[in-house]
Amino acid sequence: MSFEKHDNPEPNENRASGGAPDPDVIVVGGGLGGLGAAFSLTRQGRRVRLLERAAAFGEVGAGIQLAPNCTRILDDYGLLDEARGLGVVPHSMVMRDAVDGTELTRLDLRDLERRYGHPYLVIHRSDLHGLLLRACRRAGVELVTGARVTGYENAGGGARVTGYENAGGGARVTLASGGTHRAGVVIAADGLHSRARGLLVDDAPVSSAYVAYRGTVPAGLPRVAGVDLGEVVVHVGPGCHFVHYGLRGGELLNQVAVFESPKALAGREDWGTPDELDAAFAGTCDFVRDGLPFMWRDKRWRMFDRDPIATWVHGRIALLGDSAHPPLQYIAQGAIMAIEDGWVLGEHVARHSAADGTVDWDAALAAYQAVRPEHCRRVLTTSRAWGELWHLGGVPRRQRNAVLRARDTHDYSFVDWLYGPTALTPDQEPPMFTPVPLSSADPAAVPEPVTGEVGGR
Ligand SMILES: Cc1cc2nc3c(=O)[nH]c(=O)nc-3n(C[C@H](O)[C@H](O)[C@H](O)COP(=O)(O)OP(=O)(O)OC[C@H]3O[C@@H](n4cnc5c(N)ncnc54)[C@H](O)[C@@H]3O)c2cc1C
Repeated sequence: MSFEKHDNPEPNENRASGGAPDPDVIVVGGGLGGLGAAFSLTRQGRRVRLLERAAAFGEVGAGIQLAPNCTRILDDYGLLDEARGLGVVPHSMVMRDAVDGTELTRLDLRDLERRYGHPYLVIHRSDLHGLLLRACRRAGVELVTGARVTGYENAGGGARVTGYENAGGGARVTLASGGTHRAGVVIAADGLHSRARGLLVDDAPVSSAYVAYRGTVPAGLPRVAGVDLGEVVVHVGPGCHFVHYGLRGGELLNQVAVFESPKALAGREDWGTPDELDAAFAGTCDFVRDGLPFMWRDKRWRMFDRDPIATWVHGRIALLGDSAHPPLQYIAQGAIMAIEDGWVLGEHVARHSAADGTVDWDAALAAYQAVRPEHCRRVLTTSRAWGELWHLGGVPRRQRNAVLRARDTHDYSFVDWLYGPTALTPDQEPPMFTPVPLSSADPAAVPEPVTGEVGGR
């Protein structure tokens, strides 16, 4: 049974559910992170109410990559077959130089599936969001739209951000409508601009000065002819990169074009405009430039992350997903981390549930807090470093290319820490990889830069 409501904006409204008992858990935010957490906690027997500010559930953007550390969880949830049916299981991931188009390195994704026991999958965001939403409906999550949380408060007062409150052994949120919702625990999955994050830290999103354009191309168009839709490809270039892969069983080609905006670097407000898109890719190979007319030119995503924070839990209020750890997207782990957060929390709720069904929420939140921030810190810092590596120009670009060309295709030391089973305790967190310095590149494999080369930094 599921409940779906639109929040009633009456000033004296107390619960969206019109008199239903308080849930065990309130999840704020119906993105991929919030839906994943709501499903995970519901399947552990908790009554979950999800509050989403938008008038309807949905997800914008095009494709999303799901590595084995996510498909393993979808499998545990019983959702992997449906996800496979909606997406594409590619056979290879390939990195190419964006200037000359040559291949730098590749991962054999069939071999990778054998190594990690679960596939690498690419899927349309709206299909993944719809899949999780349907799973929440089937599980009985109480889904409330039009419910914008303006404050959080813990039981007995304590620090508060207007509208989130730790209260009476639980926590309370206040809505823009003036109503309040109380539960044993509040999970704030409210994204990059999280209001709840203010309970824990006074920080702001960090601009990378990079911007993304996205777009999909129907497979019947000439642009797609000759493209292997079973490959996930990134062309890396000076101050820019271009990603493409197939979606929806090969019906669509997904494209993402990302570049550093000179206007952003100059401190201008109007940064990331389509003229900058064309200029940023002017020095790239024909395949990349030919993809630019197919980007959605009326939408763009400016790339922000935040510095990692070590504490995500405040009393009975916990951050999850981008509210806790918004990354730059270069290692494609943002939504995955959010889905892992929900799975880890659900597993600890199960471990801290008594036979009578009561949960030791403080213990479950402490176990979540003990393991997730360090993993996500690693992902956030690696994503920044990976982006710098992708966007090199001049001699460093040539050194990078030489290091990547020398890499053994079946060397998994760079992804073992990511793609293996999600750690439930700090001792299960695998060691990090050891970075290879660019200076280790064989000098004989690093040609001199040519005059007028793009991005000679
Ligand atoms: C170009 C690009 C490519 C990416 N590629 C990948 C990829 O391949 N793989 C991957 O894993 N990740 C990828 N990511 C990252 C990923 O998209 C995000 O990390 C992920 O979607 C975050 O999910 P979330 O649910 O935490 O936050 P959001 O998706 O931001 O969801 C937050 C939700 O909370 C709601 N909300 C906000 N405030 C309130 C409030 N006050 N009250 C009620 N509701 C509220 C919002 O309306 C929204 O629905 C990419 C990101 C970008 C920009």
